[in-house]
Amino acid sequence: MQVMVSHELPCPVCRAAILVDPVALLHGDKAACGSCGTALALEPGEGMRSAIEQFDSARQEVRKVARQTTWRRRGQAGGQ
Ligand SMILES: [Zn+2]
Repeated sequence: MQVMVSHELPCPVCRAAILVDPVALLHGDKAACGSCGTALALEPGEGMRSAIEQFDSARQEVRKVARQTTWRRRGQAGGQ
């Protein structure tokens, strides 16, 4: 089964919806706002507290995804 994992986060600058891929963000990718070009990443820089709050829910989702992936990998690798 294919699960589309995507999140829309409000751009901290122009409030436009930014489509982000939590997994890609986990790997250090950045999501760019299509309206103003602001780049978002999972590790926020300085002065982005509001952005951090917006990202918090997404970050939790990212963790869940990461755990599931790791867990699956373990199951396959250690498959006894
Ligand atoms: Zn923007």
